[in-house]
Amino acid sequence: MATEASSFENLGYELHRFLGPGEIVLLSTDGVKLLKPEGSRKNICSFLWIYTGSPSSIYDGISVESTRERCGRYLARRDNVKADFVAGVPDSGVGHAVGYAMESGIPYRRPLVKYTPGYGRSYTPPTQEIRDLVATMKLVAVRDVINGNRMIICDDSIVRGTQLKNLTVKKLWDNGAKEIHIRPACPPLMFPCIYASSTRTTAELACRKAMRALEGKDIEDPSEYLDTTSSKHANMIDWIRRDLNVTSLKYMTIEDMIAAIGLPARQLCLHCWLGK
Ligand code: SF4
Repeated sequence: MATEASSFENLGYELHRFLGPGEIVLLSTDGVKLLKPEGSRKNICSFLWIYTGSPSSIYDGISVESTRERCGRYLARRDNVKADFVAGVPDSGVGHAVGYAMESGIPYRRPLVKYTPGYGRSYTPPTQEIRDLVATMKLVAVRDVINGNRMIICDDSIVRGTQLKNLTVKKLWDNGAKEIHIRPACPPLMFPCIYASSTRTTAELACRKAMRALEGKDIEDPSEYLDTTSSKHANMIDWIRRDLNVTSLKYMTIEDMIAAIGLPARQLCLHCWLGK
């Protein structure tokens, strides 16, 4: 039994079936014994498909990599920016960028490559200092690809924004980028994970930093900023764009993200974006 279906592949096992919500089974040499049948309520973490899951994994029968490609396609359909190439921030932005390239016809290129394939996930270490060090070391710019070009950069999400700004974007400008258009494959993250897995505190989120700067204080109720048609929402996105120092910034809509995953919204956890 495993949470990552891809862990079976190289061990020679086959995927038998997915457990349901709340379901408990006992594995023994006698076989599989059902101890508790699955419940009726299911709320799977959407972030598994967008960011935290391995591209080779499958959750509830839905492939992570294929979902990311669909995210990229949705991003491209709502975009009209002119660019010389599309790229993904390695590794979790790559699938999204491949989908964007397939849908738009804009070539996929690699302005940033990983120093060591499999270098640790930079969000995992407990302190910001170690997270920054891992992030600094793991990406190397390819100047010949970057210099003089306009680029669409797909990333899975913007959590704090500090690594994207200080490392990825800076490396691209330092190597002669002409335009940088950032396309996160999910809506703005407004709330920390209720299980403290992917994001830890409200204050660290880029959106909250933007709100604090725009309002001059922390605000209790962010509902006006959640409304994607409001001027407050637009101001928040533009504040993040300026803070990241990029040419343009356009997030994925929640409707497109849900459609890309392919499960009904009621079966997904969307707390990071909606607070519920
Ligand atoms: S709060 Fe966010 S990261 Fe946590 S389980 Fe829900 S969608 Fe996933």
